[in-house]
Amino acid sequence: MIRVSEIFHSVQGEGKLTGTPSVFVRTSGCNLRCWFCDTRYASWEPEGDQWSVPQIIDQVSKFPSKHVVLTGGEPMIFAEICELTAELRARGKHITIETAGTVDLDAECDLWSISPKLSNSTPIGFATDEWVRNHDLRRHQPEIVQQLMERSDYQLKFVVGSILDAEEVLEYLHVLQGWDRSNVMMMPRGTTQEELLLQNSWLANWCREHGFRLCDRQHIYWFGNTRGT
Ligand code: SF4
Repeated sequence: MIRVSEIFHSVQGEGKLTGTPSVFVRTSGCNLRCWFCDTRYASWEPEGDQWSVPQIIDQVSKFPSKHVVLTGGEPMIFAEICELTAELRARGKHITIETAGTVDLDAECDLWSISPKLSNSTPIGFATDEWVRNHDLRRHQPEIVQQLMERSDYQLKFVVGSILDAEEVLEYLHVLQGWDRSNVMMMPRGTTQEELLLQNSWLANWCREHGFRLCDRQHIYWFGNTRGT
């Protein structure tokens, strides 16, 4: 069984498939506790029922999209994701898995959308000491990120809120091998248009200098920070 927070049809707002109509399956539960998490109902305070793989497939099949996005929370904490992705593939679906890249599973996937969490994510002052410790022990797993990158198409999405964060991305990339600059995406931290535009005012130039992609959060402009979008 997989705990599911919501299944909905929308338009992908982030990354190389921006603009693509997709069915989103948001699993509920996460092994991290980023302080800036914008889906707390699927991480800090997980909600939703337990769904079987056939139940999820039935719901996904109600929508016409070929593209399916498994997101969270952290979808990779559920072993049944392997069965789910195999079933989706058998139905001709294109699968994106959005993950923080801290858990490895032999899931089938067309696009690994990996968002490694930087030191700026640690919930000091927001969570218990135990969660702060757990978060820092778990968040940095470059060897798992490397394995996922080598399996199929991928994108690395780094959430940044300052130049210091961006500089940390450069350090992070030193540990990885064979990455393609066009697959490295810098995503401004923010859940409102105003916050995103403020971050973009320096981040766009930083991306221009370093040759990385600016990964704006288009769904915020299209729909606002609204559930089910
Ligand atoms: S990894 Fe993602 S879902 Fe989990 S706490 Fe961090 S931002 Fe939220």
